[in-house]
Amino acid sequence: MKISQHFRIEPTKEQESKLFHTLYLCRKFYNYSLEQRIKSYQETGKGLSYKKQQNMLPQYKEENLEYKAVQSQILQDVLRRLYGAYKKFFAKEAGYPHFKDKYHYYSITLPQCTAKRNFKKEGYVYIPYIGDLKMIVHRDFDPNTVKTINIKYHAGKWYANLSIEIPEGKTENITKYVGLDKGVKVIGATSDGKIFENPKWIQNAERRLKRLQRQLSKKKKGSKNREKQKKRLQKLHEKVANQRKDYLHKISYRLTEKYDAIFVEDLQVKNMTKNHKLAKSIANVGWGMLDTFLEYKSLKKGKLFKKINPAYTTQKCSRCGKIVEKDLSVRIHKCECGLEIDRDINAAINILHEGLRQLAV
Ligand SMILES: [Zn+2]
Repeated sequence: MKISQHFRIEPTKEQESKLFHTLYLCRKFYNYSLEQRIKSYQETGKGLSYKKQQNMLPQYKEENLEYKAVQSQILQDVLRRLYGAYKKFFAKEAGYPHFKDKYHYYSITLPQCTAKRNFKKEGYVYIPYIGDLKMIVHRDFDPNTVKTINIKYHAGKWYANLSIEIPEGKTENITKYVGLDKGVKVIGATSDGKIFENPKWIQNAERRLKRLQRQLSKKKKGSKNREKQKKRLQKLHEKVANQRKDYLHKISYRLTEKYDAIFVEDLQVKNMTKNHKLAKSIANVGWGMLDTFLEYKSLKKGKLFKKINPAYTTQKCSRCGKIVEKDLSVRIHKCECGLEIDRDINAAINILHEGLRQLAV
């Protein structure tokens, strides 16, 4: 299974200009190759295959000396992108491939990288002809598992997106299982009665975010102060997002260590069924991210991760099955049968039951 991890990189001024130049050359090559395909079709009634274009690459490099400074693999990837664009077009998933302007060509990909070559210097990623780029490694990764490196320019910043191969473990011996209900007020609750609160520091940061946002709306448009305030807000946004991410990593780590099988609600269905007014967009992002983390950590450790249909999980009594209507302000599930528990825990137990039922089928 492949996952991708994103890291900020901080090229020097010189490296940055080389990166921009490489982007320019790749784009030019993309447009040239597209033109070749069109020409070939017009002249012979036949298009050009990826293979044919790849075979033409050495000659192109010889005739266009500036391309000496771009690794051939990167150019092969350019051709692969073009091939992909045609494939989508033929599958009626996209329109005819476009010529690209600089706003639509902002990344390069090294399709075959090695730890020995591209990560030999710790804290850096090496790109041929550009050099060792400083990487902000906010999370551990094993360079040996990296398959491809994508260097991307976005909103004034550079990123390295690493595609990482994770071996799939075996799903067997399921003896410990858990249901997880993802919440709005709290991050989630488990069928074992554990509640993952929104940590205080996240709450505080969110309050600060709101305050900065309010201040921003009062600043004059186009003023220097407004720009300054915008930058501060962006910075804090990024910080909060990273903190939240780390926290979700911790939760997913703990759950996948402790249990053999984890059941959660299917997010897409959940979004449609739950009252959406209260579900802040922040919580939404968290839900999806937590699922992603749980899924790949489970795969890696040979655990089972399964999404189930969330119908009635909140309203149904997890002991007797009776439907107990309650709106979002009611935090306790209280049923005639005598069961009185936290609403999220009740939901988590229902999720577990449904998961086990599906597993047995
Ligand atoms: Zn009941």
